[in-house]
Amino acid sequence: MAVIYDRVALIGLGLIASSMAHAMRRAGVAGEIVGTARSAETRAIAEEIKLCDRIVASAAEAVEGADLVVLCVPVGAMEAVAREIAPALKPGAVISDVGSVKRAVIEAVGPHLPEGVHFIPAHPLAGTEHSGPRSGFAELFDNRWCILVPDGADATQVATYRGYWESLGANVEEMEADHHDLVLAVTSHAPHLIAYTMVGVADDLRRVTDSEVIKYSAAGFRDFTRIAASDPTMWRDVFLTNKDATLEILGRFTEELFALQRAIRMGDGAHLHDYFTRTRAIRRGIIEAGQDTDAPNFGRGPSKR
Ligand code: NAP
Repeated sequence: MAVIYDRVALIGLGLIASSMAHAMRRAGVAGEIVGTARSAETRAIAEEIKLCDRIVASAAEAVEGADLVVLCVPVGAMEAVAREIAPALKPGAVISDVGSVKRAVIEAVGPHLPEGVHFIPAHPLAGTEHSGPRSGFAELFDNRWCILVPDGADATQVATYRGYWESLGANVEEMEADHHDLVLAVTSHAPHLIAYTMVGVADDLRRVTDSEVIKYSAAGFRDFTRIAASDPTMWRDVFLTNKDATLEILGRFTEELFALQRAIRMGDGAHLHDYFTRTRAIRRGIIEAGQDTDAPNFGRGPSKR
């Protein structure tokens, strides 16, 4: 495939950035990949595994001369990074991010960017519970959705950036920021909070059950523990910045939970059966859409943390 951007700067070198680096190499769409991370430890690992063509010490240095800059840090860190890189951005560069929340990133980053750059927020709907520069792999985005939130950006630049994500294996859709945040609250953010809660409840009960929670861990609970092992900083920021949509979905969740609780108390088997029949159909829809498999780690090694 032909080069799409001559120089790409990745700010933050965790799961998503390292997967992007591998996928860019696989597709041959970046002339040069420059990376940076906050800590010397992460930069040293990235050097050691040759994740990028160049690793530099600061975000401002990384963006110099870059045609595409992608912010791959937690949502709560985006504003400080934007402030730091703004004076060093190349005129005409495309600035994007991979944050899991879009309205908050637009509000945090947009005001700091100079005239003449193109801001195209994005969110690849792909991930694992692993973090750090060793956790990435080229196949992470294959057949996953990447949502672009162009927010009025130049159509030609958006089309090129769409092609870039397609070259990394993703299917691309455009969405308005608030709609994205509501959809993700239902499909990702609230489910993560529920998983964190369920694992927390089991942990509280551990004194009663000793190690039985771990010993007899059944499929349902095991799945929750995998989700609840996700990066604490990333998820703290998701809930702090997608507050309204998450609270809206949690409100609805609580109402449904009370209805199921009542059905159990009243012995209303018909209600339970109807409910589970409806949810089973949703699972079938996901399988039919080819979105049921978790991308495997392909033995790329353990995560940093
Ligand atoms: P990660 O593996 O934990 O890596 C995060 C990177 O950000 C690290 O390089 C870290 O630097 C850096 N960082 C953390 N706090 C920072 C701060 N305050 N200032 C500057 N840099 C900081 O994270 P990730 O999973 O790749 O997530 C990155 C972004 O992608 C997040 O915005 C997240 O919402 C989004 N996202 C994640 C997933 C997922 O499933 N993981 C999926 C889609 C989108 P050090 O290593 O030096 O600490």
